[in-house]
Amino acid sequence: MRPYMFISPARYVQGAGALGELAPQLRSLAVKSALLVGGRSGLAAVRAAVERDFPAADVAYSEELFGGESTDAEISRIAAIALAVCADAIVACGGGKAIDTVKTAAARIGAKIIVVPTVASNDSPCSSVAVVYNPDGTMNRLEFLGRSPELVLVDTRIIANAPVRQLVSGMGDALATYYEADMGRRRGAVNVPGGSITETAMTLAKLCRDTLFEFGTGAKIAVENKVVTPALDRVVEANVLLSGLGFESGAVTLAHGLSEGFHVIPACRERTHGELVAFGLLAMLILDGAGHAEFSRVLAFCREVGLPATLREIGAEPGALLKKACEHAARPGADGGFNAPPENDPERVYDAVLAADAVGRLI
Ligand SMILES: [Zn+2]
Repeated sequence: MRPYMFISPARYVQGAGALGELAPQLRSLAVKSALLVGGRSGLAAVRAAVERDFPAADVAYSEELFGGESTDAEISRIAAIALAVCADAIVACGGGKAIDTVKTAAARIGAKIIVVPTVASNDSPCSSVAVVYNPDGTMNRLEFLGRSPELVLVDTRIIANAPVRQLVSGMGDALATYYEADMGRRRGAVNVPGGSITETAMTLAKLCRDTLFEFGTGAKIAVENKVVTPALDRVVEANVLLSGLGFESGAVTLAHGLSEGFHVIPACRERTHGELVAFGLLAMLILDGAGHAEFSRVLAFCREVGLPATLREIGAEPGALLKKACEHAARPGADGGFNAPPENDPERVYDAVLAADAVGRLI
């Protein structure tokens, strides 16, 4: 058996107004010059705090607008700019693709990886893995960086003002964390650092699931009203920290494999990662033989917060394309390249997807 392994970012800071901690944290990490990278709204969200705090902390900085896609060309461009301005840290200010670009560019040039998510829509911020896309928007590969971020800093005031669909998508991604880790552990999965799954990772993954069941609806209502509440605090922690630690030191299995497979269906590409993972999870639970109580609990949660529970809701329908998606999900080395689904049988995966859809249509 492989040794147990667990990895995580070095520091995690979260709170309403937490941006005020960015400059002091960078200073304590001995950062002298930071390159800030994000989309227009991501950079705008952090600008006031940067202009206010960085000079006093003696941290030089410059901004670069993110090109919009996490491609090899964009990663090289950001890495070259960071070298040109002698940045010893690259700060991602934005969502998953900007974060993945920054993590990869910083790892490549040996700069510190700093992540300031402005949405809580997926589990990328805390991880040492990045998704690299082709210029046409299809996925190219997962890049295993071998390094975790030095700092992940989340200002919940910013998250409260982001679109509610982003938070709900993050809940979909986070909801799968425990079930995938649990399935992975029963089947001897290898986690991202290349080891067996610790009890610690399982406990964090379980806390992630329980937090969502307890506070998911409250957090959604908070973001709908652009306010920060304890429920939002808890769910941001679940979406960003627990989900990231849980998937990376736990396991990614069929829910993520299906979310990737669904990309062969054009209409599914309009859905977010977390929405596809949520429906993939329902199919995975059926294939994994989950009992009525657990399945109903997950389905009820999806219905409660507005995550998809039928094929129609993810833009898919039974037929040849869906079969292709299931073949993709069941292929050896699927689901992000780590853990194949049980039996590795596309037909059984397809049956489970149709069964999940049938139950979703009933409830
Ligand atoms: Zn994910």
